[in-house]
Amino acid sequence: MKIGIDLGGSHIGIGVIDKEGKVVEKQETDLNTAIISNIPQFIQEYVLKTIANIVDKYSIDFIGIASPGTPKEGKITTLVNLGIQELDITEMIKQYYDLPIQVRNDAKCAGIAEKTFGSLKKYQDAVFLCLGSGIGGSAFLSEKELKPMRNPGLEIGHMVINKDGRLCNCGKRGCFETYCSMKRLKNELMEEMDLDKTISSQELLKQLEERKKESTVAKILEEYIENLIVGLSNVIDIFEPQAICLGGGFVYFEKVLYEMLVENYYAKRYVFNKQTMPDLKLAALGNDAGMIGATIKE
Ligand SMILES: [Zn+2]
Repeated sequence: MKIGIDLGGSHIGIGVIDKEGKVVEKQETDLNTAIISNIPQFIQEYVLKTIANIVDKYSIDFIGIASPGTPKEGKITTLVNLGIQELDITEMIKQYYDLPIQVRNDAKCAGIAEKTFGSLKKYQDAVFLCLGSGIGGSAFLSEKELKPMRNPGLEIGHMVINKDGRLCNCGKRGCFETYCSMKRLKNELMEEMDLDKTISSQELLKQLEERKKESTVAKILEEYIENLIVGLSNVIDIFEPQAICLGGGFVYFEKVLYEMLVENYYAKRYVFNKQTMPDLKLAALGNDAGMIGATIKE
């Protein structure tokens, strides 16, 4: 058995994963910066306590960690939402457990999990896009994950789709994620619909289903889908995948967004090779994709 740890911007999930990628058992907790004063200490205590309980019950041979951003040499770096610059989670665990540990970007973990056990399992050439607070992804050609030597690469979210467009956190203008991340879309919708920014995704979805035909709301959704199709067209022309899988918060809004996307995807063919449009898929492993993918060795 393996332990998969999904350390997100606002929660930690820790699961026991078997060799078929099944989550045998899991525990989760919120990382609420308003309540917890020392986040790194809280993470350390929670992770070590949970691992201790797990190793009492299961024979564990590997620990994988999924984290946002660009983890380097086993360290987690720049978790902006949690105010963490660097956290050496590998060293923290190694002090107590002599096990192989791997730390990898969470969107890549989710992609690898979908490729190995989920929606992309039957495809050799595939792209996974995580539409969440930004856009992350991974690509597979002839079953192999594309991995550059220097940086993790595949910064599909920072592909420019409008040269004088919206300013991105990365400093460039017009990045794909400034138009198509779920965070940007939700903010735009909440502003237009005059909703409180603290409402749950569940409530937002409900409101959206009721009000999606209102002209200003419909316009935001149409532009979102249009931009998403432009981004997908670029991805298709570069990688020629057999399938593209969409994951992250997007999946939660399936009823509104995915249906609109599918309606327009085949009609608005910006792509070069129009005869072989890739299959569109939604992520199948949900919130567990990160912890499952974390346990798949590089
Ligand atoms: Zn950018």
